[in-house]
Amino acid sequence: MNTNRLVLASGNPGKLREFRQLCEPLGLTILAQSELGISDAEEPHCTFVENALAKARHASRASGLPAFADDSGICVAALGGAPGVHSARFAAPNEQRARFADASSGRNMQDARNNAKLIAMLTGKSDRGAHYTCVIVLVRHAEDPEPLIAEGRWEGEIVDTPRGDCGFGYDPHFFVPAWNKTAAELPAHEKNLISHRGKALAALAARLHSVRREA
Ligand code: IMP
Repeated sequence: MNTNRLVLASGNPGKLREFRQLCEPLGLTILAQSELGISDAEEPHCTFVENALAKARHASRASGLPAFADDSGICVAALGGAPGVHSARFAAPNEQRARFADASSGRNMQDARNNAKLIAMLTGKSDRGAHYTCVIVLVRHAEDPEPLIAEGRWEGEIVDTPRGDCGFGYDPHFFVPAWNKTAAELPAHEKNLISHRGKALAALAARLHSVRREA
């Protein structure tokens, strides 16, 4: 790969913020696909890795640049791993984001409804174990036959009462016993050190270094 500019195949401002912070020390400039006028790809698959690959190829094809995508979600043990790949639209699977005039308020509303549904489904269940998972796929070009793939996982527990204002999505309900805090109570730099996304990006960075050394 002979460029330090990478397109991120996501329009999620929470993810974009975290990836920009995480990629800065690697000397990588992240361009959001939304800033380039590229629409979101479909995510029809039942695995994180297939969805991430589809998103990365779509962004690379549309931009002509190397691109990466993450597909991530929360998997709750008592719900058999749900919402999993459906985490983003758990409460309203068929709803289009474009329905909202303001994308960020639409996203906040969606997060609130997802959290309400999750907590309602866990009523009376004692097993509160959950993990976030993140798969990142990087393609050097749209048809790249050797995509770089990295994964990260973050263990925690679901709590009924939300706490904290940082992060996004399910973070106010995702309690991390080792820190005695929810993910939304962790400042960004602390979350990035231990999160599923932080771990996946560290693994991807290691892969990138070895690919660059071999080139
Ligand atoms: P994706 O854009 O299809 O990967 O959607 C991932 C969804 O999983 C997000 O919209 C959130 O609902 C949830 N999610 C993934 N990572 C996080 C995180 O770090 N904090 C909170 N929610 C997350």
